[in-house]
Amino acid sequence: MTDKSIKELAVSVGLPVEKLLDQVREAGLPQTKAEDKISVEQQDRLVSHLKKVHGQDNGSAGKITLKRKTTSTAKVASTSGKAKTINVEVRKKHTFTKPDPEQIKAEALAKAAAENKAKAEVKVEVKAAPAEQKSQPVNNAKATLDAMRAAQNKETAKQEVSKAAVVVKRKSTNKPIVKQTVKATETAEQKKAREAQAAQLKAVEEAARRKAAEEAQQRTLEQMRQMASKYSNEDATATIRVVDDSPLAAGLVGQAYEDSFAKEDREIKRGTNTATARAPKKGGRRGQEEQSFSKQPKRGLKTSQGNKHGFEKPVKKQVYDVEIGSTIVVADLAQKMAIKVREVIKSLMKMGELVTQNQAIDQEIAALIVEEMGHNPVLVSDTQAEDNLLVAAEEARGAQTTRAPVVTIMGHVDHGKTSLLDRIRRTKVASGEAGGITQHIGAYHVTTDKGIITFLDTPGHAAFTSMRSRGAKATDIVVLVVAADDGVMPQTAEAIDHARAAGTPIIVAINKMDKESADPDRVLNELTTKEIVPEQWGGDVPVAMVSAHSGQGIDELLDLILIQAELLELKASEEGAAQGVVIEARVDNSRGAVTSILVQNGTLNVGDLVLAGASYGRVRAMTDENGQRIKSAGPSIPVEILGLPEAPMAGDEVLVVNDEKKAREVADARLSREREQRLERQSAMRLENLMASMGKKDVPVINVVLKTDVRGTLEALTVALNGLSTDEVGVRVIGSGVGAITESDVTLAESSEAVLLGFNVRADTTARQKSDADGIDIRYYSIIYELIDDVKAAMSGKLAPEHRETILGVAQVREVFHSSKFGAAAGCMVLEGVLHRNKPIRVLRDDVVVFQGELESLRRYKEVVEEVRAGMECGLAVKGYKDIKALDKIEVYDVQLIKRSL
Ligand code: GDP
Repeated sequence: MTDKSIKELAVSVGLPVEKLLDQVREAGLPQTKAEDKISVEQQDRLVSHLKKVHGQDNGSAGKITLKRKTTSTAKVASTSGKAKTINVEVRKKHTFTKPDPEQIKAEALAKAAAENKAKAEVKVEVKAAPAEQKSQPVNNAKATLDAMRAAQNKETAKQEVSKAAVVVKRKSTNKPIVKQTVKATETAEQKKAREAQAAQLKAVEEAARRKAAEEAQQRTLEQMRQMASKYSNEDATATIRVVDDSPLAAGLVGQAYEDSFAKEDREIKRGTNTATARAPKKGGRRGQEEQSFSKQPKRGLKTSQGNKHGFEKPVKKQVYDVEIGSTIVVADLAQKMAIKVREVIKSLMKMGELVTQNQAIDQEIAALIVEEMGHNPVLVSDTQAEDNLLVAAEEARGAQTTRAPVVTIMGHVDHGKTSLLDRIRRTKVASGEAGGITQHIGAYHVTTDKGIITFLDTPGHAAFTSMRSRGAKATDIVVLVVAADDGVMPQTAEAIDHARAAGTPIIVAINKMDKESADPDRVLNELTTKEIVPEQWGGDVPVAMVSAHSGQGIDELLDLILIQAELLELKASEEGAAQGVVIEARVDNSRGAVTSILVQNGTLNVGDLVLAGASYGRVRAMTDENGQRIKSAGPSIPVEILGLPEAPMAGDEVLVVNDEKKAREVADARLSREREQRLERQSAMRLENLMASMGKKDVPVINVVLKTDVRGTLEALTVALNGLSTDEVGVRVIGSGVGAITESDVTLAESSEAVLLGFNVRADTTARQKSDADGIDIRYYSIIYELIDDVKAAMSGKLAPEHRETILGVAQVREVFHSSKFGAAAGCMVLEGVLHRNKPIRVLRDDVVVFQGELESLRRYKEVVEEVRAGMECGLAVKGYKDIKALDKIEVYDVQLIKRSL
């Protein structure tokens, strides 16, 4: 406080000048005008006058109640053995009263005086007691009792009189009265001196305490300001609001904030949380009361030892060994030390690191924090547990033998990758094996006279690179398909780059040799410009001239692959726990996660406990690429398994483990690692956005929510779509997944103004209703390039009128009958719209397209009809598709010419 004019003072206390002047007059001060100065002493007088006037009201003005709610999560093991996360909400209410400094001073003085007085009295009385005791035994007893009361302050006077009297009587001596009196006088003098000294001391202490409190407040306010600007924590902003309103409140709240940290600290040290802290305290007090009552047999209360609470304050602080990987999320770090996240954030702030609880921090910083908290940091490799498992599995394996090579076919679109894969499969897979429905499991193997070759049949570079980006090296050899009539094209060059980057040897297959326009020499020439020099020209790249159509050169190609494999000396063991890689995974409504795995080492058996990525489970069933049930699979054999609780990602490592606990440990570690990486990516993304919008305002971004039938396509499409972004228009896949489009996808698309794209999947009923109601456009595709072209066109704003399909009607198969004429006839119920006999149809299973074609027949009862409306039953047969099943859906659509908008 400094000298101020009345006007200034009025502004600083927020009162109208007239009102303040009235109060000044009432306080008997001389000022009458707004410009008059008011000194510090006068301000003090004014304050004490106001206090007198307002009496009790003043007390409550310095009172602030803070309510705080903190939510945290706790992990507990459920009965099923799985970890469950429970939200814990702790509500606290603190009332802080600002003590009047005068009052504090007075109280401190009174307290000091009382203490001294009590000491003096005890001395006087105890020492004097023997002298007076003979004549006034009861009085002496009372005096001693007072002393005892000062010390114990528990027992009732009446009861103690007799007890104390006995004590005093026993201790009585016959020392001279004079000496006692002198001693008493001396003590009285000392008492005065001590009082003065104590008062002085108190005053100094008080000043120091205030200074410290002020500094602490400043610090806290600064921290809170930083916190508020860093992230919007409700507590912090609420506090800041008060801070802005009034300096007094700021001080109090700042102190309160510090105090609450300190309080939490104490509670944590006691090994209890705030919610439970009260109970033991209460119990403790009750225990004490009962104990003191128990000294009063008259009241007839029994000793309550049996009721004593079980809480015991830990004598020593718990010191934990805190394991820290290369990064750790702040909240997890706090959990490992069993302290509040806020504590950790506070310490990080002191070190100049402003982070939120969901951010990951580096190993070194985390280690410093752990040390500061008094625990032991244990630095571990992120992959420690996995490495251990791998080593154990490796050790358990038997002798190594030669294994089949795994081949990926790459090349430019339309150069014949799919045709070549089909050709090899058709000619080489024994007809008996291929008898059933050929399944798409992402890979197949062929047996030749010279050996087995496994082909990964997810063509496309994106699948290859996304697998590689997950650290998986599934491919041993790349077969680069180049059309003899087309030559090296952009994706041919891209494929060469990918193969080189992965260090995978290349074999060139010049395809379409049956064509008249084929010009293999030109192709070879073009290849040399890409540093692919054919063997026949003195280089090291084997080349085969083939035709997927005529089958020419296929055997030579397979021979070349096997020779290359021999050079590579591919080895694996057939014994021991299997290890492999996820090729593809999808979720099937009736069977759960269906995962295609390429076994790379060891043997995979039905019943094995498999850890794939972050999920683990027992292999319930296993099929080969022909849909045949098998019991085991060795190295280089692709299989499809059931039994994992959720679909892992393509490229995830697969390992058979014999210890469920270890599997869980590694799965958990991988999950948290994924989470950390995701959070890192998210914050990076936020930053990028920030930069982008700073540098260039209003860069339009097309948000996409993408659902596909299999994971391979999802990854390929995501990479392709994200890669479309340019400086002027961005594309961002904000949500993606495998399986039908659900209500939550629609909600996501709606909230982020995204387009919803389905690749070979459909929206389920609720999603469709929601999208209709909200006007969200869902677009369905079954050709990758159409989808990408659409998004590209949308980006360039050149959406030309185009053919687009509308779904006219949907029917559900209720029962399937065998018909001599059609093979399989389906009894259906039309769910929506109208079923037309002459329009194109699709068969959907779990909202995923399984067949496209047309109807062979549509009937109501015996009659052939042109259309059937919703709510009616009908019988139908699909042309060329006999595998129809109950609950499949038949979708009739129409292709229209419309103006596009995305
Ligand atoms: P992908 O996009 O690389 O998978 O190419 P596809 O396998 O789908 O083939 C593209 C087109 O080339 C199709 O129309 C095939 O019929 C045709 N094709 C593929 N291989 C041959 C071949 O050896 N000879 C001829 N004449 N045409 C071929």
